[in-house]
Amino acid sequence: MMSLAAYPLGLTVMAIDVNARSVVDPLSKTVFTCSVNEAIEQADVISAEFEHIPQDLLEQVNASGKFYPAKAAIEAGADRVKEKALLAKLAIDNCPNYIIDDLALLDNAVAQLGEQLIIKASRDGYDGYGQWRLNGLQQLPALKQQLSELDLKKVPLVIEKMLKFERELSLLGARGKDGHIVFYPLVENLHHQGQLHVTIAPATQVTEALNQQAQHIFRALVEELDYVGVLAVEFFQMGEQLLVNEIAPRVHNSGHWSMQGADTCQFENHLRAISGLPLGATTVFKPTAMLNIIGCDDFTMDMLSIAGCHLHLYGKTVRAKRKMGHVNISADNYAELGQKIQAFAHYVPEEHFPMLKDEAHRLSTL
Ligand code: ATP
Ligand code: MG
Repeated sequence: MMSLAAYPLGLTVMAIDVNARSVVDPLSKTVFTCSVNEAIEQADVISAEFEHIPQDLLEQVNASGKFYPAKAAIEAGADRVKEKALLAKLAIDNCPNYIIDDLALLDNAVAQLGEQLIIKASRDGYDGYGQWRLNGLQQLPALKQQLSELDLKKVPLVIEKMLKFERELSLLGARGKDGHIVFYPLVENLHHQGQLHVTIAPATQVTEALNQQAQHIFRALVEELDYVGVLAVEFFQMGEQLLVNEIAPRVHNSGHWSMQGADTCQFENHLRAISGLPLGATTVFKPTAMLNIIGCDDFTMDMLSIAGCHLHLYGKTVRAKRKMGHVNISADNYAELGQKIQAFAHYVPEEHFPMLKDEAHRLSTL
């Protein structure tokens, strides 16, 4: 999606496959003959679309002087221990947590945080992978057994209190090389089994106070990191307070709605930011729902008959829990958006889209 947004700007994107250490065309995946070293040498600017980058490669691209958003931002996004340290340094409220590098310390975490916990591997987790849950002390022995297979000295665990939040929100924005920032509106994210299924943009019922809080946190982060590009900050809303869940130093799934719903999509704004171009307006054209297609490919294309419905497939083979693509649906107002989500639900298997009915109903009654 980044390279699709790059083409009309006259930019050419080459991708580094960080595992194979090869240079590939991001769309066709054709392997180019040039080496990673040559690609780094030739590039005008280098960025990342995910944070799990081998340290030596991160050091190398950073040393080129052409890397954005910022090395420290990628490291904080990739390592929950560093992320928590960053939030603590900036006094940004986040989930009560306890970090352990020895399983014997799990009991201390339970004593401090209670017996409803989410345990997160500090590295290499995404979409709910690398997470375990504790729902009551009776599950503790089995949990310890599971965790005993991990090397906590190498990858410590961040243990968080299981919060009873009202909802999940995220804020995306882009910061240019001159420090100028543009914000997308706060969006609401619906998760199922630790994975994002639905984003509603803009989020409904957002107070100005909530908006200010989110933007204040965003500014503190990007200024500390001297960040350039799109950043996503995920929040839990508890009453009128926002707690940061995590930060994503990149374009983000909860920003995919902007491909149809906003004046300038997140991919274009990321490219503009890192290329030193003026940032694009983030004006919302229409309320938009982003519906992830997860672990399924058995749907008809007839969904495209819904006005304002756009399909974005990623060209992947189906696998359980794999994000295969997403659909953006825009409408003139939330009630109409609810009706369109309801209509969409008829075209796809409910087991893979478990959040649609309730959300369609909620929006229809707004
Ligand atoms: P992703 O890559 O999709 O953002 P992730 O694997 O990095 O996910 P998190 O964002 O930390 O993981 O957690 C995934 C989801 O699990 C959250 O969006 C939220 O729904 C739930 N969750 C995580 N931490 C907590 C918590 N402390 N209390 C309650 N729910 C939580
Ligand atoms: Mg997350």
